[in-house]
Amino acid sequence: MRQPLSRELSNLLERGRDRQLRLAVTGLSQAGKTAFLTSLVNQLRHAGVEARLDLLPAAREGRLLGAQRLNQPDLGVPRFPYDPGMAALRDTPPRWPEPTRGISELRLQLRYRPARSGWLTPEIAHLTLDLFDYPGEWLLDLPLLQHDFYSWSQAQALHEGEQRRGLFSEWLAAVEQLDPAGEADEAQLAALAEEYAQGLRRAKKAGFSDLQPGRFLLPGELEGAPVLQFFPLPQLDTSQHNTSRETLEALPANSLYATLAARFRYYQQQVVKPFYRDHFRRFDRQIVLVDVLGALNAGPERFEDLSRALRQLMHSFDYGQRSLLTRLFAPKIDRLAIAATKADHVTPDQHGHLVQLLEALLAEPLKDLRFANVPVKALSLAAIRATEAREVTHEGKRSPALRGTTLENEEVLVYPGDVPARLPAADFWQQQGFDFPGFRPMQTTSEALDHIRMDAAIDWLIGDKLT
Ligand code: GDP
Repeated sequence: MRQPLSRELSNLLERGRDRQLRLAVTGLSQAGKTAFLTSLVNQLRHAGVEARLDLLPAAREGRLLGAQRLNQPDLGVPRFPYDPGMAALRDTPPRWPEPTRGISELRLQLRYRPARSGWLTPEIAHLTLDLFDYPGEWLLDLPLLQHDFYSWSQAQALHEGEQRRGLFSEWLAAVEQLDPAGEADEAQLAALAEEYAQGLRRAKKAGFSDLQPGRFLLPGELEGAPVLQFFPLPQLDTSQHNTSRETLEALPANSLYATLAARFRYYQQQVVKPFYRDHFRRFDRQIVLVDVLGALNAGPERFEDLSRALRQLMHSFDYGQRSLLTRLFAPKIDRLAIAATKADHVTPDQHGHLVQLLEALLAEPLKDLRFANVPVKALSLAAIRATEAREVTHEGKRSPALRGTTLENEEVLVYPGDVPARLPAADFWQQQGFDFPGFRPMQTTSEALDHIRMDAAIDWLIGDKLT
């Protein structure tokens, strides 16, 4: 009698439990999203055999049995390119996976043995994990929702910073000649919008991050669409034209000002909002990746720019009562991780400082998140480890070093420098305290990718669902 009842109850329990989780990975481009997601899928698929996941109790205790790919439920979202990524890493010489450029998805089913046993607990349980990856640049568009075209034009920071202004000089010179009241010329608008987008791309390449609109950098499926043919009018805050808001808003629909303003509104309503409504709102958990070390390597103006971009990006996770997002939708992310990526670019003794620097960089948003009671954890990791930690002896003194192969195929032994534990002051930059090359992934024969603290990240993001 007892056997069938027990099976029935455990089936019931199985169905009733929270068995599904939507986990999203984001970060500005080059932050390491593609590498992270490739490694995450790889570690879970090889959990229980080759993967080294000691900081994840379910794996350490031998309860995580592995993961299988399933067909994803959202047919409109591209599949995350796991196989091509792994093929690149297994190539001779190994290559980094080709970065993804829009949103993508992969569904895994995890099999594990629950920690607690009892006659009501199933012997084997499953967790369906929907993994998403999307560009952090898209989140930079959130503040754009609280502007109209007039205030957005004014808010654009193009005039700040000499280096940045230099990247937009031709576009600025052309746009400042435009009369907002003049009739819009389609071809001219398209050409200037393209020039603006090129300026944003140049700025991105030069290491700047605080760039809007986000889709100009990573258009996804909108490449070449007229909705992306607008740009701010930076001259609105100068008195060169009669540019009071009232005068401008009374201009006819075919004027330059009204045309740009209409496209700006369309972009808000048809591009930015649907991403939040259709995807963002449905994520349960989120990890935000930050290339802190890359910004340190790139110098003070870009480091400051990263800090500004992150403050903006993090607004998407601030669910305080009066936040813009809470007013728009009710997001449900109940756990957040913030990770400094590529930790294998510095020696292990610097990893503590790396987390402290990340916390300092995000001090304000972290305070807001904790105040809003969103559990958040900061950590440092390397999704795919490309260096080995070594020790060198110089004049009788032992010091840490890294060994790796550069992207130019040169074997090197380096000490990249000390990571400051606080936001770097002027003297840090003057001393040029930090310098490292890009490394190639290591050649490996193991099925599981070598990593640093991926297990800690996995534990924070899904560990509680594997008990
Ligand atoms: P995405 O644009 O955010 O998807 O970034 P990617 O995942 O493509 O990473 C950008 C680049 O950063 C890669 O091509 C690698 O050169 C480097 N990278 C990413 N993850 C790691 C890592 O764990 N270790 C090292 N050494 N480099 C990494």
